[in-house]
Amino acid sequence: MNKSHYYNKDKGDGKIMDRSLLIRKAFEAMEFSYSPYSNFQVGAALLTKSGKIYTGCNIESVAFTPTVCGERTAIFKAVSEGEREFEALVAVGGPKDKDWDELGWSGPCGVCRQVINEFCKGDLKIIIAKSEEVYKEFTLEELLPYGFGPEHIG
Ligand SMILES: [Zn+2]
Repeated sequence: MNKSHYYNKDKGDGKIMDRSLLIRKAFEAMEFSYSPYSNFQVGAALLTKSGKIYTGCNIESVAFTPTVCGERTAIFKAVSEGEREFEALVAVGGPKDKDWDELGWSGPCGVCRQVINEFCKGDLKIIIAKSEEVYKEFTLEELLPYGFGPEHIG
């Protein structure tokens, strides 16, 4: 197995956090997706620098506008509990009952990228995964080049 596949980062408590665990947590969260209108299920897992994992799923509304994505659910849960430092964000998802292998890669939507830019800084790893073994990893700079962030307010 490729060594770079794993975090290999000791959080100081002896625990080794790996990408497979985060991806698995995101898939578990996807099971809670409430997406009766789009049938597009999303799960997310957010790893804090302190080693905690917050998960989220997309939650739709019949009025559409109140709909929230899985990534933002995870971020808002973490921030609402005092977390502001993040290591990695995993997003998984796709149309219910379809073979994802036939579909292209889909990353966080534009709104989520903006929220990620609010709370997550340069070294955040953004991972989109089709399985624990098949995933892509990005920086926020790659997903949101020249993004508008808190530093631009002055
Ligand atoms: Zn989104």
